[in-house]
Parts: sequence; C-alpha cells; structure tokens
Amino acid sequence: MSLIDPFGRSIDYIRLSVTDRCDLRCFYCMPKGFKGFEEPEHWLTFDEIERVIRIFGALGTRRVRITGGEPLVRKNIPELATRLSALPGIEDLSLSSNAVQLDRHAESLYASGVSRLNISLDTLNAKRFKEITGGKLEKVIDGLMAAKAAGFSPVKINMVVMKGINEDEVEAMVDFCIEHDFTLRFIETMPMGATGKDAVDHYVNLQTVRAKLEERFEMVPGVMPGGGPARYLRVVGTDLRIGFITPISQHFCETCNRVRLSVDGTLYLCLGQNDKFELRPLLRDGISDDGLEEAIRHAITLKPERHEFNEKPSQVVRFMSMTGG
Ligand code: SAM
Ligand code: SF4
Repeated sequence: MSLIDPFGRSIDYIRLSVTDRCDLRCFYCMPKGFKGFEEPEHWLTFDEIERVIRIFGALGTRRVRITGGEPLVRKNIPELATRLSALPGIEDLSLSSNAVQLDRHAESLYASGVSRLNISLDTLNAKRFKEITGGKLEKVIDGLMAAKAAGFSPVKINMVVMKGINEDEVEAMVDFCIEHDFTLRFIETMPMGATGKDAVDHYVNLQTVRAKLEERFEMVPGVMPGGGPARYLRVVGTDLRIGFITPISQHFCETCNRVRLSVDGTLYLCLGQNDKFELRPLLRDGISDDGLEEAIRHAITLKPERHEFNEKPSQVVRFMSMTGG
C-alpha cells in the first residue's frame, strides 16, 4: 500500500504539529503580539491523532515527526510518542523542538521511542538569542546536553542563517557542533504569513555560506539517515556532517515525500502553498476507517507540484508555527 501523488511522488512521511503555541517568539516564525491561537476544543485529541497516523501507517507512511509550535508545551507528549511509535508501519519517530524544556523531557522521550531530535539554535550568543527568540539560551544548552546524555544520536541542530543577524556565527556553530558531536543543518529563511517580509529582508543564499566554509574546511559529500531535503557534506578529519536546506536557492520539490497535519486536523499538502484538506470534521462526524482512508487518498491528489516562494513570496498566509516547518 502506498500513497502516490499526481506527480508520481510516494508520500511516506508526515509532520505532525501537536500545538500551534510556543514558549519562544522567533521573530521570523511568529508575528509580534500574535494572539490568534487555535481553540483547545479544535485540537485533535491523542486518540484522534493516533487514529489518523494509524491510517497513514496502513497507507505506507513510515516516518512521523512530532513538531509544533513547540511540541513540548503540550502535555504528555512522551505518552503520545509511545502510542505513535507502537503503530504498525511506523518505523521512525522523530521530534523537532526549541529545547527550552528538553532537559526535563529528554529521558522520557528517549524511552518513548523517539529516535531522533532536531533542535533549533540560531546563535550561541545569549544576548542575540534573547533578541531573536525572546528566551534564554542557557535553557536550550541544558536541553541539548540532556538530549545527548539521554542517548539521542544524532542530535541535529537547525540554524536559520540570517543576514545582519547571525550570518557571522556560521563557523562558530560548526566548531560547537564538532566539539559536542552534533549534526548541523543550515536553513534558508522562507517567506511565511505575516513574518514573510522578515524572511525576505534577512535572506542568505546558502550556496555562499557553503563556499565560504569550503575555504576553511575540506568537505566531502556525506549521507545522513532520514536526511530529508538537506544536502549533506562531511567535514574531513571530523565526524561532523553539515546539511544545507535550500528551499529558495535550490528547491527540492521533485523529491518531496511529505504532508503536514496541523493541530486542528488540517492536512497541508505543501509548506509553500495553501492547498489543504480538513480531517477534523470527518473525524468528529464519526467517519469509518475506510472512509478516512478514502479521504486521505483524495487529499493526496491535491498535492501541488512545487512551492512558489520565489514567484509568490506573500501567498502563504499561515505562519511556520502552524505547520511546524
Ligand atoms: N518549535 C520547534 C523548533 O523551533 O524547532 C518546532 C517548530 S519550528 C516552526 C520548525 C523549524 O522551522 C525551526 O527550525 C525554525 O527555525 C524553522 N522556521 C520557522 N520559521 C521559519 C522561516 N520563516 N523560514 C525558515 N525556517 C523557519
Ligand atoms: Fe517557536 Fe519554533 Fe517558531 Fe521559534 S521557530 S517561535 S521555537 S515554533
């Protein structure tokens, strides 16, 4: 069984946003003073999420990533992770987090079957961290160390590289990741919702970052399990792998294998388009498993060929925190 979209791509990966709330306010992700969060009665319950993921598993989905908002602000995420990792067909469960609350949760997440963690970290400077996110860097570092101690390997660090903000810290982040044995991924800013202008203003083409790093480090092509859209290089003489996620300068839509489920049960077919399909009304109207399977198959037929961040940078009206990147 598999889900094949109209462009022949096999969809075997779902990104599951368990909340649209967050304990940080990264300026490029959530607009200042944003208050329009989803009402709790619209959040899919754990039972509803488990049911949807079970059907996706039966339709060939092998990988699930729990994301947000910040997933760790929703209660009992390790319990949900235990339920999802036990589902037939689900071979890989991972989680994206800002790590603010990770020191408390790292061990239980590891025990629950989460196999890989992606942590957002744009700067190693506490003052800058505060300016970018509104939060405390110290907590994130504690969270990272707790993740390592709990046994997560690899721990991937996601750094959104931004002009005039943290571009000058690319090498410091490479050194930090070599020292702590983390994998590093650089990300280009994407124009989303009301923060779109910030993304455009601070955009850095990662091809230039890569060229600059190659002046200091010898790098060879590297592979990474579950690498997704990142193109990886390994720094010779170290174990460090560096991924480049380049939706703008070199898009990777032809190999897209994923869809996104938001906390209110909306299935988004592409990060850079508005195409969507609502599952919550069906779930709450008592749809059968066969009906749900049919609805998901139909939703996949709506998947667009590619994003248009370059051509139509202001067309996506939601924020990244709604679909979790
Ligand atoms: N709160 C978690 C975190 O920060 O990792 C998970 C959700 S967050 C929306 C997922 C990823 O999206 C983060 O790595 C974040 O840096 C990235 N992100 C958010 N807004 C973005 C934008 N406009 N362009 C590029 N990446 C963005
Ligand atoms: Fe929160 Fe992650 Fe968005 Fe930052 S990037 S505001 S941590 S959801």
